Amino acid sequence: MTTQLCDDLLPNGLTLPEAREQSRRAYELDRKHVFHSWSAQAKLTPMTVTAARGSHIWDGEGRQLLDFSSQLVYTNIGHQHPRVVEAIQQQAAKLCTVAPQHVNDARSEAARLIARHTPGELNRIFFTNGGADANEHAVRMARLHTGRYKVLSRYRSYHGGTDTAINLTGDPRRWPNDYGNSGVVHFFGPFQYRSPFHAENEQQEGERALEHLDNLIRFEGPTTIAAIVLESIPGTAGIMVPPPGYLAGVREICDRYGIVFIADEVMAGFGRAGKWFAVEHAGVEPDLMTFAKGVTSGYVPLGGVAIAPHIAATFDDRAYPGGLTYSGHPLAAAAAVATIQTMEDEGIVEHAEHIGRTVLGPGLRELAERHPSIGDVRGAGVFWALELVSDRVAKTPLAPYGGTSPAMSELVATCVERGLLPFANFNRVHLVPPCNISEADAREGLTILDEALTVADRHVSMD
Ligand code: PLP
Repeated sequence: MTTQLCDDLLPNGLTLPEAREQSRRAYELDRKHVFHSWSAQAKLTPMTVTAARGSHIWDGEGRQLLDFSSQLVYTNIGHQHPRVVEAIQQQAAKLCTVAPQHVNDARSEAARLIARHTPGELNRIFFTNGGADANEHAVRMARLHTGRYKVLSRYRSYHGGTDTAINLTGDPRRWPNDYGNSGVVHFFGPFQYRSPFHAENEQQEGERALEHLDNLIRFEGPTTIAAIVLESIPGTAGIMVPPPGYLAGVREICDRYGIVFIADEVMAGFGRAGKWFAVEHAGVEPDLMTFAKGVTSGYVPLGGVAIAPHIAATFDDRAYPGGLTYSGHPLAAAAAVATIQTMEDEGIVEHAEHIGRTVLGPGLRELAERHPSIGDVRGAGVFWALELVSDRVAKTPLAPYGGTSPAMSELVATCVERGLLPFANFNRVHLVPPCNISEADAREGLTILDEALTVADRHVSMD
């Protein structure tokens, strides 16, 4: 299988020569003027994307790729869904913007629809611009609610790039941003494949992780801890689905010590894990839940905090000291309304669960039987990770923690050459297509991955 070149018009209406010319100029200007996230600017050679539809994108050369990255894991209803595009257009024609202190019908309706799907009583919505600021505000609410300062979060996590959010984060991107004064204490969460607790099975891993957390709290001082922040399923850090009982155990610990439980659903939410929110897998109700990405399928930036009544009540008579110019921006709110209605009407969350259970899960496990470079397969819905190793017994990662390697770069380049855009991090490839990917496209992605993995297999030690 090789990438397809578009011989007709691209989905954006351009001919191939027009698209290439536009891309050439865009690339030139990008390298001159655009400063990119998380990168050494001089070392970048970013891919140009000229068009996108459904589960596909077209690069600067007009080559079609299956988007198994959902960009940054957010195009949950695929690219350019006509219903959402139209809703944004209609809202733009009707009313582009209204300040956050006024009432706006798009914002009210978005809040109602989000509350319809959040667990239990998480029915009050504070809107932000994205995921990091949602976590900032959730922590601020928890601190004011409890009168405590310290916050706990796990190693192997990502919570955003702003000051508190990057300090909550348990990956190397925190290190240069950590001045030791954030009030965040990290702990180890469950991760059976690389068990920090030497557990022999999932149940043991969950139990030992809870014991570790409980101990850490007792030694840090329970009355000093405002919140525990956890991704319901850690995403960028490796899609480690928590063992049964773990999140319920965290809930119980929070209740015991009067600690606010903040679930970060920025990546795992809105259908990604085959449920509206990934905490539903655990049957757990957090006190605060943050979301972003999938709420608008990323078409317009939006995030937020869903707030339980007892936390909201803290700010009934006392002003909440926080806000944003664009809190509940009408264009974003209209995109959220259309995205949620589309997900409901088209059964997109159920579809994501079905694709995970019948295609991606079994397909990836079957690849693991044939490719010695696959150390572990894990995930749910359309949220899957392959952990790649050069030695299955020693579990030697194909790239070091926090780094990359020629083997990983070669694997990703081969995927792209053959028409598949995965999401890669350290020694992992994540397969995270839109929640409404067709069965045929999901299978095609697996076929390309199968071919590309032969490249990774060459790096497996044979002795
Ligand atoms: N939380 C999680 C779990 C995320 O995956 C991300 C982004 O990838 C964020 C927070 C930060 O969201 P944003 O980039 O919208 O600020």
